[in-house]
Amino acid sequence: MIVGFDTTVFPKLDYKRPEDFWKKIHYLRNFFSEHADKLEKVRQKALVMKQCYDDFDPFIEYYTSRVCPYCGTVCCANKFGFPEFADIITFLSLGLTIPAYNLNVDGEAICQFIGDKGCVLPRIQRPYRCTWYFCDPLMVQIDIGPAKKYRKFIKDVQDLSRTRGDIMREFFPLWEELGGDI
Ligand code: SF4
Ligand code: SF4
Repeated sequence: MIVGFDTTVFPKLDYKRPEDFWKKIHYLRNFFSEHADKLEKVRQKALVMKQCYDDFDPFIEYYTSRVCPYCGTVCCANKFGFPEFADIITFLSLGLTIPAYNLNVDGEAICQFIGDKGCVLPRIQRPYRCTWYFCDPLMVQIDIGPAKKYRKFIKDVQDLSRTRGDIMREFFPLWEELGGDI
């Protein structure tokens, strides 16, 4: 069973309201620097999730590099490249730089982070949904591949969801206790 976390309990980051979006990110940056000691366990959980990303990445790259170049309906739109609150929590827990999002773009247009060879952001710096999403053509390729690889795929997906849930379960009570308010 996949044990995730309902991230709708967190405030919404709305890329269509740039000033508010950046204000919230600024608040979160300060929240992490002001409460660095109390957030240590969150950081530890985030490091475990990063390891899951690192384990999973070669598998995803293997399949996307074979399927995506032939795709007629590329899924990477700007609106998917913008982070949700929980993504920012993960980035800050790992001390990552938050990408310099250009919010003045058409949400439906091709994502600003697409380069010649796919996404230019390291996987850990992408919104979680970017790694979590597997379109039908990708799933078909994974399905018809070796059973051992398929089993690893299922395990990696579950590990990713569980470890992200662990970060948020650690963070959420602290957010409430420390008066997080945006
Ligand atoms: S993940 Fe699927 S929908 Fe997205 S670009 Fe690749 S093949 Fe196309
Ligand atoms: S994978 Fe990269 S290019 Fe695609 S939507 Fe996510 S951030 Fe944008």
